[in-house]
Amino acid sequence: MVYQLDRSTSQTDATEGKLPDNLSDLPAKANGAAPEATNNWTIEDSEETYRIKGWGEPYFAINANGHVTVSPKGDRGGSLDLVELVQGLQKRNLQLPLLIRFSDILADRIERLNACFSKAIARYIYEGRYKGVFPVKCNQQRHLVEKLVEFGAPFQFGLEAGSKPELMIGLALLDTPGALMICNGYKDQGYIETAILARNLGKTPIIVLEQAEEVDMAIAAYQKLGIKPILGVRAKLNSRGVGRWGTSAGDRAKFGLTMPEIVAAVDKLRDADLLDSLQLLHFHIGSQISDISVIKDAIQEASQIYAQLSKLGAAMQYLDVGGGLGVDYDGTKTNFSASKNYNMQNYANDVVAGVKDACVQHKLAMPTLISESGRAIASHQSVLIFDILGTSEVATTSPEPAVDDEDLIIRNLWETYESITPENCQEAYHDAFKFKEDAISAFRLGYVSLVDRARAERIYWACCDRIQTIVSKLDSVPDDLVELEAAMSAIYYANLSIFQSAPDTWGIDQVFPVMPIHRLNEEPTKRGSLADLTCDSDGKLDKFIDRKDIKRLLELHPFSPNQPYYLGMFLNGAYQEIMGNLHNLFGDTNMVHIQLTPQGYAIENVVKGDTMEEVLGYVQYNVPDLVERMRQQTEVALQTKEMTIEESQQLLQNYEQSLGHYTYLSV
Ligand SMILES: *Cc1c(COP(=O)(O)O)cnc(C)c1O
Repeated sequence: MVYQLDRSTSQTDATEGKLPDNLSDLPAKANGAAPEATNNWTIEDSEETYRIKGWGEPYFAINANGHVTVSPKGDRGGSLDLVELVQGLQKRNLQLPLLIRFSDILADRIERLNACFSKAIARYIYEGRYKGVFPVKCNQQRHLVEKLVEFGAPFQFGLEAGSKPELMIGLALLDTPGALMICNGYKDQGYIETAILARNLGKTPIIVLEQAEEVDMAIAAYQKLGIKPILGVRAKLNSRGVGRWGTSAGDRAKFGLTMPEIVAAVDKLRDADLLDSLQLLHFHIGSQISDISVIKDAIQEASQIYAQLSKLGAAMQYLDVGGGLGVDYDGTKTNFSASKNYNMQNYANDVVAGVKDACVQHKLAMPTLISESGRAIASHQSVLIFDILGTSEVATTSPEPAVDDEDLIIRNLWETYESITPENCQEAYHDAFKFKEDAISAFRLGYVSLVDRARAERIYWACCDRIQTIVSKLDSVPDDLVELEAAMSAIYYANLSIFQSAPDTWGIDQVFPVMPIHRLNEEPTKRGSLADLTCDSDGKLDKFIDRKDIKRLLELHPFSPNQPYYLGMFLNGAYQEIMGNLHNLFGDTNMVHIQLTPQGYAIENVVKGDTMEEVLGYVQYNVPDLVERMRQQTEVALQTKEMTIEESQQLLQNYEQSLGHYTYLSV
């Protein structure tokens, strides 16, 4: 995993959040140091620890009770206490893990994006308009797409399909007059003809030619149907994205036509009397573009291609700049992969100004601008809430003193433990490590009992604990002690599957902000990582957002089994749901749509998560058949008297009831 290290900061951001405070004013954090235990911890300390202002404004904040609050309409008023909301939902039998979608946040994102383009259009006196589309692949859930169409209607906001099934969604749901239906992805004759025929429903489908063969297919469809399509062409730009999706552009990109292919397509369309159908130029240089300079370059190149297509006789009207508008997951406003060094307004300004420049240069009418921003629209609206089931930590309680007749290794370890001082802690660590290894070697050869080995390991961890306490106060930590904190850190067991709820954390090392949603007026004295419910050792969260790069451990509160501990994962509304899988048969989580009302909030929709019966069905098990097999086995056990009738009744009852339950644990 390679993270870019040069991180430049951008200008002040009027539309989204604020610049980070002067970095030099911040308290220096000793490398790996646990926070000093104090009892005057404030919510400001929590804001700083979890960087909520950086990534959360204007939607997420912390209130005086130490709870996370949600202001779904951003700075335009109305906020909810997330903990009270979760508890209210639990009382309605919605168990954790629970995905909460805030419809108002979705509306706010759409309005913000349109406002940024309006502002840029006014500022640069751009003689054209903006008509955005939402790429359905980013989140295809029906309730969300319905809301998008509804909230987007005042802006004639449209949809983008990247596949045949997504086209089916788009054609049926998008009924806003004048809104665009951008048809991307691999196409067959059926795809193209369906899109063309939908023109006669008063819709505006634009078929974007992404492969050279699609030119012939579009011509054939026109000849068959006699209806002229609106066509676009996707260009393989030379300006490459960087980072994860950098290969979305360039000659080796999966989609798009090279310049020779574009020129050939123009000739073919002219011969088929379809050159007036070619109206749109599209490019997409990848998702989560962290660096604005990449976008500037792409706009410049694409604007020139647009102008040249006009000169070749195409009836150009639209320039579609694709996706890529980033989300600041870590709130650092840098060109780090989890961040971006520009804001939405900067982005809109660059698109508008860049296209205008080329049109002025070539004395062309300015096109309608389209962006296909998915991540930037859908990420903020959903929050995943999960609870902690338990923790595991190395036992560091003070061991009993060694006695004279104990094994020499144990006496040595004890002596080391007793003699640890700030001056000798590095040496003490090496001694303790050596003695512990000796104990294990001796055990392997049969010279040390299990009880003695356990005692040696306990004293060793007690040494580590003492050393770590000293090290955490040092300004610079010796290299060989840096790993100590991680080795001693707690594991918090989380009631979720990352494969289902945050697959990108596993697949592409994505980091999402994760934090407790309560107890934020109490110092998080622990540092730990999270392990999920799956029995896969990759099922964990051990990379967290930080001021710089990432951190391996998250500040957490001491867990007590009889007090619920709720954590939230934020900004995960894009891509996660559909990419989530059924690893270990953990199914879809419960999901609710919440809308702000003058009285508080309304639950618009509830989508119950999968039951065990449902996930078993996905892998072709038939539940009555499973129950019958269990019944037959209990009959046999009853015959042989290995089971009583009451036991068999209890077992079958548990078995049958479980099948109708949620796949996650109930606490
Ligand atoms: C994935 C995709 C998008 C969405 O990109 P975001 O970075 O999420 O905005 C837009 N257009 C195309 C063609 C895509 O493949």
